[in-house]
Amino acid sequence: MRMKVSLFSLLCLLPGVLMAASSFEERPYMVIPEPAVVNMASGTCNTLKVLKKTADKSLGEEAYKLTIKPNGVDIAAGGRAGLFYAMQTLDQLKAQYKGDKVPCGVIEDKPRFGWRSMMLDTARHFVPVDDVKKFIDVMSYYKFNKLHMHLTDDQGWRLPVPGYPKLEEIASKRDETFGNKTPHGGMYTKEQLKGIVKYAETKNIEIIPEIDLPGHNQALCTAYRDFQCFPDPNLKVRQDAGISKTLVCPGNPEITKFYNAVFNELKDIFPSKFVHLGGDEAPEDNWKKCPKCAAFRAKEGINDSDINKAASKQMFSFFVKMDELLKAKGKKSVFWYEPGGKYPDGSVATIWRSHNAKDVANTSGEKVDVIYAPNALCYLDYPQLPGDWPSGQPDTGWMPVNTIENVYRLDPGVGLDAKELARVKGVECCLWSERIPDINRVFYQAYPRALALVEAGWSPMDVRGIDRFKAKVDFHKKLMSEKWNISPDRPEKK
Ligand SMILES: [Zn+2]
Repeated sequence: MRMKVSLFSLLCLLPGVLMAASSFEERPYMVIPEPAVVNMASGTCNTLKVLKKTADKSLGEEAYKLTIKPNGVDIAAGGRAGLFYAMQTLDQLKAQYKGDKVPCGVIEDKPRFGWRSMMLDTARHFVPVDDVKKFIDVMSYYKFNKLHMHLTDDQGWRLPVPGYPKLEEIASKRDETFGNKTPHGGMYTKEQLKGIVKYAETKNIEIIPEIDLPGHNQALCTAYRDFQCFPDPNLKVRQDAGISKTLVCPGNPEITKFYNAVFNELKDIFPSKFVHLGGDEAPEDNWKKCPKCAAFRAKEGINDSDINKAASKQMFSFFVKMDELLKAKGKKSVFWYEPGGKYPDGSVATIWRSHNAKDVANTSGEKVDVIYAPNALCYLDYPQLPGDWPSGQPDTGWMPVNTIENVYRLDPGVGLDAKELARVKGVECCLWSERIPDINRVFYQAYPRALALVEAGWSPMDVRGIDRFKAKVDFHKKLMSEKWNISPDRPEKK
């Protein structure tokens, strides 16, 4: 997922107008993401202690109301999520006022979109359990509610599957990274993953696992060489970045058996009804030459007279088969949307190139929902400033600069009618980790830009504004440093 940015992609996503947001006199609270409604009242509050907590289902699961009165705070929440968000808002207010008098007012808040996700790539560089938990701590504080864990890729496989010991022995390790002569590896245990899920639940975070298929499978096919169309005895777990032509072979019955075992494990570990199946960057070169793939297509009634079209149809057939396997386990598929991509009804397409919900409907119909993660705005492995990668870091020069102002421009509603907008589930930012070796660099790449992304997912457009947002970020950078000892500040760059 390393598409370069086109001007078209930017034009598609630029909102017509970012409304001038309220001043800090009208809205003194430095909360991120910006609450939907703030009404100030006269007087000041001496202490932000909670006086009353009320459940009010009529508000909606994720909504809350926080009333700041002279003697304390009343909270009403629509559900468990709403209460959690109210507490995060309250904590941010405590950090802002630090015992000073707080202007009285009422915050009535709920998210614009129900899906506010961060993608953590644990495949390119393994992320230890405690680091995943810290990542969850920070994202949940800012009202993200989904952690998309990218668990498998060319460079490593991180999910144990019973009956497939070579996943750990071979697919979870590589000899080096970009020629650094340092071996890298890591595998979660089932219990560790269950522990992460349980921890995430306490922070109102749902974990969406990703098993990327049919491409991004060089690690898998190094461990199980028969899974590819033409077994390559020299294949290695990938040590650099880029698009691999190593796909699994849908014509091999062992593949269905394998993914059935994988999905059983996912079902045991992750209660989310969503499983991301990838589906991106899968050049079908080998499928076009493979006799087993030809047999698969014949069985599916796919005509091979135009082999390129036939390979695309084979891709869709393979997606449908995998989707059916998942459905039988009560799960829904999510895919990365590729140009012209067709996906099973009831699945979800994550937009990562320069597309929108209209494009998805045009190629895949109206029964496929959409998540917005356009790379030009939502890829946080891209540098925030020119030169914002350590010198000598390999393979970063092609990356476009993605400033915080740029990320802030995201509005998934642009150019859509109400019916199309109803198919937009929300937003995601992505931290591809080919070049991100540890959690410190993850945080450096993620923040403060992820804060811009979460406002795009949470706040109505008419209360958003870049100047107000940046002033809040200045405060939150200090807060993040105090709270988690992470510094989102950039050294001066030329
Ligand atoms: Zn094949």
